[in-house]
Amino acid sequence: MGTKVKTQAGPYDAPYAAGEGAESQFKTHYIEYSPRSAHLVLARNVERSVVDLRLATACSLAHQLGSVKCDCGTQLRMAQKQLAQTDNGAMMIYSLGEDHEGRGAGELNHVRAYVLQHRERIDTVTSYKGLGIDVDPRNYGQQVHIMRKFALHERKRKVRVLTNNPGKVLPLKEAGFNAEQLLLNAPITKFNYGQLLSRQTGLGHTFKDDLSSISVEGAIKLRTNGELDNVDYSVNPDIVGENGTRYGPFPLPYAIDGNDEGRIQELDTYYYIIDERMYFVLHRLGAPPTSSAEVETMSACLPGHVLGSTLCTCRTKLKKVMQGMDPNSPEKSPVLIFALGYYDRQANLKPDEVLAHVRGDADRRELRPDHPHAKIILEHMGVRDPQTFSE
Ligand SMILES: [Zn+2]
Ligand SMILES: [Zn+2]
Repeated sequence: MGTKVKTQAGPYDAPYAAGEGAESQFKTHYIEYSPRSAHLVLARNVERSVVDLRLATACSLAHQLGSVKCDCGTQLRMAQKQLAQTDNGAMMIYSLGEDHEGRGAGELNHVRAYVLQHRERIDTVTSYKGLGIDVDPRNYGQQVHIMRKFALHERKRKVRVLTNNPGKVLPLKEAGFNAEQLLLNAPITKFNYGQLLSRQTGLGHTFKDDLSSISVEGAIKLRTNGELDNVDYSVNPDIVGENGTRYGPFPLPYAIDGNDEGRIQELDTYYYIIDERMYFVLHRLGAPPTSSAEVETMSACLPGHVLGSTLCTCRTKLKKVMQGMDPNSPEKSPVLIFALGYYDRQANLKPDEVLAHVRGDADRRELRPDHPHAKIILEHMGVRDPQTFSE
C-alpha cells in the first residue's frame, strides 16, 4: 500500500458517545490513499508526551451493526471508552476500504469466510485458509505515515497501543516509535469464545489467560485446522434476479442496545450482493417477514453507526430497529435492509459519502425503500406490501 495521500479533509470538530460515560470531543480527519484505502483519524490532545492509540480496521458486521460473533465491536467500544477517559493524548485511526475490511480480506471474501464459519462451524483462521485468503496481510504502513504527520515519532514521546495484537505494535517499533502494548481484555462470552481462541492460537494475539484451558458455558466449539474432516469450502450463493446473489440466513448475535452491557439477541442475517453492492438484511430470529412487514432501509454511517457521532441520529435509529426485532417486544417485527455505504460498483470508496457523514450533513436514509435493490430484496423475501417502520 502506497503512502501518497490522494484526498485529505478536516479537521472537523465532532462529538462522539461511544457508550455510557464515554462522551468525548475529537478532531476528525479524513485521509484517503487510494480507492481501496482510507482512514478516519480521531485526535485529542495529541501534542501530549504520551498518546493512547487504537488502530482499528473495518469489520463491517461488528462495527456497523453490533454483531458480537467476533470481538471486533467490543474491542472498538472498549478502546473508545479508554480514549474518551484518558488524560494522555488520544488517537483512533479507523481504516476502511477493501484493503482493511476483515483483516485485509475485502468485503466479499469476508462474507464468504463468514458463510463458511457458520455452515461448517470452523474458526476464522481455518475459513480464511480454506478459501485461500491471507490470514492477516495488514502492514500498517499508512497508519505509520499518519502517525508521523502528527509527530508521534519524535524523541521522548510514547505511544501506548490499545490492542491484543502484537502485530499492531511491532510495525510501529520497527518504524522508530516508542510504542508499547496495552491489553484490552474484552469479556469472554459464549458468543465470542471461539473467535478469541482462534485469535490466540491461530493469530498469536496476547490474552491474560490461556483460553484453551477455560471452559465457557454454552460456547460452541469451533473446529480448527488440526481436526478437520470433509469441509466443503465452496460457498455457492443463491441466485437473486439477474445480477444478484444471497447467502443466508445465519443466526448471528447482536448487541441490540448498541453496547455490550445491554441485551444480546440472535437475529437472522442475510448477505445480498446486487450489482456488486452489498446489503445486510436482518429480521427476528426464526420469524420470516410477512408480506406486509415493516421495513427500514438505511445506509451505513461511519461516524454514527461505527464511532457513535452524535451529529446525526443514525445510531439511535438503528438501535430502535434492532430492539424491535427482539422477541420480547412482540408488537414489532421490522426487517432491516442495511447498505454498506462506502463502496461503489467496483468496491471503491466514495469519499463524498463518508465525508457527508463525518460533517453530520448526510441524509440518514440514503437507501430509500423504493431503491431498485431494496425492491429486489423485498420481492425475493416475499414482502409485497412493505410498511414504513414506525418507532
Ligand atoms: Zn470482526
Ligand atoms: Zn450518520
